[in-house]
Amino acid sequence: MKTQSLCILGSTGSIGQSTLNVVEQNPERFKVHALSAYSRIDTLVTQAIRHAPAVVVVPTDTARQAFRQAWPSSVPCPEIRVGSQALCDTASESAVTTVMAAIVGAAGLPSALAAAKAGKRILLANKEALVAAGSLFMQMVRDNGAELLPIDSEHNAIFQCLPGSDRATAPDFPAPGVKRLLLTASGGPFRATPIEQLAHVTPEQACAHPNWSMGRKISVDSATMLNKGLEVIEAHWLFAMPPDRIHVVVHPQSVVHSMVEYTDGSVLAQLGQPDMRTPIAYGLGFPDRIESGVGLLELATLGRLDFHPPDLERFPCLALAYQALEAGQAACIALNAANEVAVEQFLQRQIGYTDIPGIISRALGHACVPQHGLPDSLDAILDLDARIRDLSASWCRSVA
Ligand code: NDP
Repeated sequence: MKTQSLCILGSTGSIGQSTLNVVEQNPERFKVHALSAYSRIDTLVTQAIRHAPAVVVVPTDTARQAFRQAWPSSVPCPEIRVGSQALCDTASESAVTTVMAAIVGAAGLPSALAAAKAGKRILLANKEALVAAGSLFMQMVRDNGAELLPIDSEHNAIFQCLPGSDRATAPDFPAPGVKRLLLTASGGPFRATPIEQLAHVTPEQACAHPNWSMGRKISVDSATMLNKGLEVIEAHWLFAMPPDRIHVVVHPQSVVHSMVEYTDGSVLAQLGQPDMRTPIAYGLGFPDRIESGVGLLELATLGRLDFHPPDLERFPCLALAYQALEAGQAACIALNAANEVAVEQFLQRQIGYTDIPGIISRALGHACVPQHGLPDSLDAILDLDARIRDLSASWCRSVA
């Protein structure tokens, strides 16, 4: 067994911390080469003392100074790199075998692309990278022999249920004999809230997911179900599956993480506790199964598993995501950028929860989103992303 040398992008976040937890349980398999943070520099210091990476990456010189000041003089300090180019350089350097892409939002795209270009094993949690740049990202993976393992629990479940996922290398897609992919969705905290009350829900209520503990942005996305929409787009790119063969089913218990339906009528599902350490351990260990620290799934105690179709009146963001996927890459960039701005403004209490789909809808219909032709380079993608962010910010000000 060869030791993997890890670069954990976004190590201070929910996925990053769970990754380090799994690493600690399997010390003989992994060496932590690099960690990165954005605002939680104290957490990064604590992680770096514990895991002794060669490199840490922070966003600014001020953050570098804060790291230096908090670092104990008795311990050798890691090399401190600064800025988004440093994230790309670190993700692609030869000392790294495996990159955990766990930065939140489109900010994670350049470094995930850099890892693909360098032919790394990529554990992809950052779904926004595939939403904004699916075609370019998958091309980069193929052209450079990178290995892509999905960490999002639904895609990880589908990956496990597809043929060939027990091989030493990740299989090619589309997989033969597959009829539909069935993505499960918990329905989030507002699954049963009267629709007329949704205009008044608070960020705290939106972030209180009934089953999963996650970062704030993805928690709001789960409440609006835009998260499931992003996952539909992610599944389209990861598994080369057309939108009309990717279905969403609401499953409040979050025990079945997703399913694959085959042409003979068989449906394979992956079940487990709602704990991201399971898919993270699967990606870290692939093709072996390794310890994750997740407890037993006691089906007899659970008693029942429910499934029902999503209510698109309650969750208009899900329909908007299908609309964007049908419209093409530019619309997906607009969907993602407008959502990131609207969610941040909602978390800052500048707009209401029910304003979020309105902002996304305006972005999808805006003239600057080309109806034909793909932004075919990272620069073109980031340019459209920035224009939509500016517009969305002004629309948020007008509804505030
Ligand atoms: P968190 O908000 O908990 O963590 C995000 C990480 O990204 C943190 O390390 C943060 O640093 C860093 N970060 C934030 N902004 C920037 C930036 N502009 N540049 C560089 N780094 C930045 O998010 P999660 O861990 O919940 O989610 C991470 C990704 O994984 C998301 O794309 C999410 O959709 C996906 N995902 C998450 C799941 C979950 O259960 N949490 C499940 C499936 C997918 P700092 O904390 O120091 O500010």
